[in-house]
Amino acid sequence: MSIYKLVSGILLINFFLGFSQDESTATEIWSPIPVKINASDFNVAPSDAIILFDGKDFSNWVTQYSNEIPKWKINSDGSMTVINGTGGIKTIESYGSVQLHVEWKTSKGIRNKKPQYNSNSGVFLQQQYELQILDSYENPTYVNGQAGAIYKQHSPMVNSSKKPGEWQSYDVIFNSPVFDKKKLIKPAFFTVFQNGVLIQNHVEVQGATTNVGLPKYNSHGNLPLVLQDHPSLPLSFRNIWIRKIAD
Ligand code: MG
Repeated sequence: MSIYKLVSGILLINFFLGFSQDESTATEIWSPIPVKINASDFNVAPSDAIILFDGKDFSNWVTQYSNEIPKWKINSDGSMTVINGTGGIKTIESYGSVQLHVEWKTSKGIRNKKPQYNSNSGVFLQQQYELQILDSYENPTYVNGQAGAIYKQHSPMVNSSKKPGEWQSYDVIFNSPVFDKKKLIKPAFFTVFQNGVLIQNHVEVQGATTNVGLPKYNSHGNLPLVLQDHPSLPLSFRNIWIRKIAD
């Protein structure tokens, strides 16, 4: 190898090394360092989550309309069952944008002929945006009202429902709407996984859930999370945790 080739080779290597190093470091961000948390199994709450229901009591909950101790049933297996007619339950604390984990189980056995009466409940983010809960395993109904629907607004992308009597999970990312006084600045968005499967991909919420007519927004700040009491075959919950996320 001639001296000329050797020198040009070294120059070329230096040029590319120097070039890539300078260019790449310019776009490296080193702070703030993300807080270290302990995450374990997908269904186990990470260390920075707020545990809303751990199977022991209703200490984080009150009845939806009367702010009393919920009359739902706590079971020996660490779950709770909706008692129809006693009303929905809501968290004592209010939330904005959140990551939420909820596990739920529909009823085994004879089904109601009306599809919407088979273990109907729902998770209402900020008391008004419903992620539908229903036994949607071979229980056809209007698709924007089946399990995983943002009720009457967005049908789930797929039906990943398990059989009646099997525990299921929702993992939710909810971005709270933003208002300037009464004016909507930014709508709410949902991303939802049911049993680990993506069923809602950053869908835009059109307003508060309504069963009749079209949804519309009413300006609000942080509000509680509500679990619905809907007349139906029993529905149980367990392992509910939430993480606040910054907007
Ligand atoms: Mg419902």
